[in-house]
Amino acid sequence: MDDDTTAATATESRREVVPAERPWSARLDKGDRLKITDLHGAQAVDFLCFSAEMPVERYNAANTIKLARTIYVGKGVTLYSELARPMMTVTADTCGSHDTLAGCCSSQINAVRYGVENTPSCRDNFISEMARWCLGPGDVVANVNFFMNVPVDGEGAIGIAPCLSGPGDYVELHCDMPVIAVLSNCPQRHNPCSGCEPTPVEVVISR
Ligand SMILES: [Zn+2]
Repeated sequence: MDDDTTAATATESRREVVPAERPWSARLDKGDRLKITDLHGAQAVDFLCFSAEMPVERYNAANTIKLARTIYVGKGVTLYSELARPMMTVTADTCGSHDTLAGCCSSQINAVRYGVENTPSCRDNFISEMARWCLGPGDVVANVNFFMNVPVDGEGAIGIAPCLSGPGDYVELHCDMPVIAVLSNCPQRHNPCSGCEPTPVEVVISR
């Protein structure tokens, strides 16, 4: 038996391109790895995770920020649940700019901010994708935004600035518990969080 070949084929179990503006989800086991690649650059990816064994337990931004002692997610930062249990840990990051504050876009806030009605949004993407896992609109909580650039100044002012990710930049997360991972490839065209022109991303699950 060729152990190297076996190991190589056993490592990657799923590779998919998530089209521009679309959601995606998967169940991952403890020890699995999820790699998210910004194929074209400047594409925000809104992300939530839930305990696969008890989905009422989910990613909690406040616990993650408190325990990381930073508002920025990067290599070595663990995403914590509301029960302060480690859910997923960032093991690789070639971008260095990921947001915990801005949450997801919605058609409602697009109407308030930009005066446009019935736009595609991450909130609607989350709701439709999470329904596959029997999760409802009330489960759309403050999420991580991979590749999204939300600078905060010393006075506390925040903005949405152009993404710093280039083509091929990626983050990889290790599962600290079995999770349902849900993402929205952000369809926003009214601010620079997705370069004003949404593009596909790639997801790879390794186990
Ligand atoms: Zn969005």
